[in-house]
Amino acid sequence: MNAPLVVPPLQPGDPQRTGPCTLLGADEYRESLRRLKPVVYVDGQRVESVADCPALAPGVAAIGVTYDYARRPELAPLMTAYQSSTGRTVNRMLHVDESAGDLLNKLEAVRILCQQTGCAQRYLTHDALAAIAQTSARIDAATGSTEHGARFRDYLRQVQERDLALGVAMTDAKGDRSRRPHEQGVPDTYVHVVERNGKGIVLSGTKAIVTSAPYVHEFVVMPCRAMTEADAAFAVCCAVPVDAPGITIVARPAGRPGEKLEHGGAPFSRRYGQSTGVVVFDRVFVPWERVFYAGDWQHSAGLTYDYATHHRQTCIAARAGFGDLLIGAGALMCEANGLDPGAHSGLRESMVELIKIVEGFYACGVAASVYGTCDPDSGTWMPDPVYANIGKLLLATQIYDMHRLAHEVSGGLIVTLPGPDEDHNPATAAKLAEVLRANPDVPYDRRIETARFIEDLTASYQGGWYSVISLHGGGSPAAMKQEIWRHYPVGDKVDLVERLLERGVTADADRAITRNRQPGRCCDTGCSTPGRAITVPLSTLTARTTAAVPGVATGPDRIASPMADAPTAHSQAPR
Ligand SMILES: Cc1cc2nc3c(=O)[nH]c(=O)nc-3n(C[C@H](O)[C@H](O)[C@H](O)COP(=O)(O)OP(=O)(O)OC[C@H]3O[C@@H](n4cnc5c(N)ncnc54)[C@H](O)[C@@H]3O)c2cc1C
Repeated sequence: MNAPLVVPPLQPGDPQRTGPCTLLGADEYRESLRRLKPVVYVDGQRVESVADCPALAPGVAAIGVTYDYARRPELAPLMTAYQSSTGRTVNRMLHVDESAGDLLNKLEAVRILCQQTGCAQRYLTHDALAAIAQTSARIDAATGSTEHGARFRDYLRQVQERDLALGVAMTDAKGDRSRRPHEQGVPDTYVHVVERNGKGIVLSGTKAIVTSAPYVHEFVVMPCRAMTEADAAFAVCCAVPVDAPGITIVARPAGRPGEKLEHGGAPFSRRYGQSTGVVVFDRVFVPWERVFYAGDWQHSAGLTYDYATHHRQTCIAARAGFGDLLIGAGALMCEANGLDPGAHSGLRESMVELIKIVEGFYACGVAASVYGTCDPDSGTWMPDPVYANIGKLLLATQIYDMHRLAHEVSGGLIVTLPGPDEDHNPATAAKLAEVLRANPDVPYDRRIETARFIEDLTASYQGGWYSVISLHGGGSPAAMKQEIWRHYPVGDKVDLVERLLERGVTADADRAITRNRQPGRCCDTGCSTPGRAITVPLSTLTARTTAAVPGVATGPDRIASPMADAPTAHSQAPR
């Protein structure tokens, strides 16, 4: 039976939204961090309270947006989701997707969050929960037990009830890249089980890159690669409180909070940014109820694949939100320079190229949702791996073009203007305001504000950071190419041409190039009428209501997307 295609959008106050649920706000999230006592170092100094540390404030603020947006009634259909398995409405960053439409709404939600914050970070929690849901169910299916699924569901319930932010501790220090975990000279380059007993396991080792490590509540520890039997001690997936005894976090500041402003301020990344931490585990005890698996090396390949597929699709939305900032700022800079990009072909071409890049990779995210499939063991919805990987690959390499195009339309002043101290220099300020004004309708201070915004996002330390996270975050390009080749149905294309060449009878169906095949597909349940949309417009969120939301882009906004309410519609549907 197909899912209902047209379901009235949920309204705030609908019975479905009144189930037991905790939706913290940013202030409560900050307060919850104050109750934790993690061992954190930033720039060589011990941090006593991460919630009150200026070097981490932009990161805490960015995650705070994921909390506050979930409590805004006009954003609730996107920023929250109904989890039918637990019967509660939860922050979408904690939702395990139950339909192709859920995947779309996650995409839209993350894009909006990243328009506001550059990188909202908490979406990693979503991706990890989805992957562990799938792996737990897969282990149960393989072993005939129910224990792993039950343990995960219990953990999911706690995470959703407490509205937690989880850090993804996946990328190990890895040591010599040419060697497997068990072959490393220093075993602690990978997190591994050093002891197990009736109560739980003991972990040691190092996760080298963990986004938002200092200011999450817990880490989900996951392997970062496929394992062999000899690597069994390194095949471990569990949840650990951020302040568990034995954990030390050595982190970088988030954004550019304290940077001196002489070379242009940091109008954006002073407010929002991302810290990453090296997380060292030194004999950290984890009770069995928080261990999703330990030693089941056969399941590490599946877990990393599931996580990477979810995460690459989510990265598409994150970078699209960042792209929206560049598109808006580029157009503003043209205007401040006295030029209408629509009237000058050189500028228009650059702007269109920027739009093409952003919407091009975003379209892959949409396709990955629409062609998503239901994981047979867990019932979780999984993005299509080919589109998810192509979209992530496009953004990984085209981020450099995005920066170039923003620079191209803006001019050199974005990195050469005098700094903010000069704005108040009585000897120079008035003259500079007069001669460095371009468009008579745009005051000098507005022009330099836009220029500094673009410098901050594309030509500062933070600009370089956005490039590197795009390139390597969620896996390096080689990993995406491997997945595209692994999943793309080249075999079908070979069949097609062989059929046209009338070679069908003699063809060897088992040779390497025909190995990859894929069944036809039409919709999430495989039975909708061809051409029929699987999603419906979200009537409660219009451009008008969007305009009333400070900080959320208007114009061709994301909320008004025709895909926006599908998850709520589909999440009510029986699977
Ligand atoms: C800003 C940022 C945030 C991140 N956040 C997180 C996070 O929250 N959690 C998390 O777990 N990870 C996170 N990552 C890590 C990210 O997933 C890794 O950076 C990525 O997987 C690449 O790993 P690496 O950085 O160790 O590079 P390397 O593995 O050293 O790769 C460098 C290059 O060498 C190639 N290479 C590596 N090994 C081999 C080999 N054996 N043979 C041939 N070529 C090889 C790679 O393809 C790549 O081109 C983050 C990364 C960034 C940049």
